[in-house]
Amino acid sequence: MRAERGRAKKLIVAFHFHQSEQAGWKCDSCREAGLERKRRCGWLPGTALDPARMVWARGRVATDRCPRSEVSAQSLEWLERFFVWRTLGPKYPGEPSAREVEAFLILEQELAGERNHG
Ligand SMILES: [Zn+2]
Repeated sequence: MRAERGRAKKLIVAFHFHQSEQAGWKCDSCREAGLERKRRCGWLPGTALDPARMVWARGRVATDRCPRSEVSAQSLEWLERFFVWRTLGPKYPGEPSAREVEAFLILEQELAGERNHG
């Protein structure tokens, strides 16, 4: 159950990060500027990081790790499929899997929240 929630959280962070100004969050430039400890980049081992604190927030979503490193390839894939699914509706190719449907519902909720609160 905890893993499920962790996955949902990551997906929600992915969604909001995708919708936000991402330009200031490039792990390469972070490293060059020596910001990776402060921003708690996920590419560093936990022991090398500054103490936990919020490093990125958008609306009511916040993370204590660099959001770019928090976004998994899986989350990105779901995010992409979600927008395809929304665009195509019933023409979406094939049946989405149970996990995909679960991801789509989470994203749908985030998108609705976005529209209601600007
Ligand atoms: Zn990073």
